Amino acid sequence: MRDRLQALAEAARQEIAGASDRPAVEALKVRYLGKKGELSAVLGGMGKLAPDERRALGEVANTVKAELETLLSAALQRVEDAELEAQLQGPGLDVTLPGRAVKPGSRHPVSRTMEDIVRTFSRLGFDVASGPEIELDYFNFEALNLPKDHPARDMQDTFYVDEPSLGHAKKADSSVLLRTHTSPVQVRYMLQRKPPIRAVMPGRVYRRDSDITHTPMFHQVEGLLVDKDVTFAELKGSLDAFVKAFFGSETKTRFRPSFFPFTEPSAEVDISCTSCGGKGCRVCKQTGWLEVLGSGMVHPNVFTSAGYDPGEVTGYAFGMGVERIAMLRYRIDDLRMMFENDARFLEQF
Ligand SMILES: [Zn+2]
Repeated sequence: MRDRLQALAEAARQEIAGASDRPAVEALKVRYLGKKGELSAVLGGMGKLAPDERRALGEVANTVKAELETLLSAALQRVEDAELEAQLQGPGLDVTLPGRAVKPGSRHPVSRTMEDIVRTFSRLGFDVASGPEIELDYFNFEALNLPKDHPARDMQDTFYVDEPSLGHAKKADSSVLLRTHTSPVQVRYMLQRKPPIRAVMPGRVYRRDSDITHTPMFHQVEGLLVDKDVTFAELKGSLDAFVKAFFGSETKTRFRPSFFPFTEPSAEVDISCTSCGGKGCRVCKQTGWLEVLGSGMVHPNVFTSAGYDPGEVTGYAFGMGVERIAMLRYRIDDLRMMFENDARFLEQF
């Protein structure tokens, strides 16, 4: 029996030394040391031996078992090392390659600016509203005091939409277009509710302009406040509060008379230059001022379009171009950067 154990140990040593992969080592472990393995088979006959012999043989068996366990675990380590080495040299896994940097996305400067404008007005008590980008001529022009023959329509080059595809959306005698401003949302919003109203309307608008300072699509934020006895002083106060909250408390505002069909009186709002503080520089073309907003008291005809009685309510409206404000804020001097989606530009924000 002792001889059988020695023979078994010798055979096992040779086979373990020759095992070249993991499955082979696992198979040898089962074959020699498993419950139904060869070592167990030899020891199974020990019951018939005298106690002294049994003890002596048990010691040999334990020694053999311990040796085989050590050899098997060394063999496992050896084949695993060999596998890793093969992977390092082959086309598979190269653990020396530097890791791939994860590039987290960031908000586009236009989105970020639009959100911040909306958030600033939210703090001033304004709700947020939106409307369709494909709009009826009626809401984009007529309801805003721009009848068909109004000369101010020429101010805005409009994209018209092929009507048959939108037949269901067509209102009697109203063509379909891409809205040229966010102002139609004002009318839609007023038609849906009664005054008082206090809301901002951010969104995309479209015009047939494309050059260094114009893109066919850009963003506006529109604002509207309607109540009884709203005055121009409140318009000035609210916009001044916005400008100080958004551009900094030292920023000054200046209101210049202007013309918009949907407001009367109307005013352009300038702010003191964010680059030079008003001293005059290249950004403000040496004037010390930057034009950022259009505003005015809502025209009575617009109230009539919305079903409000112009004798009962008054209100103010304002609008601003988001790209322009983003450019001032981040000191970007070429509008086209906003639309090229160059990662080297975008990842700075
Ligand atoms: Zn300046």
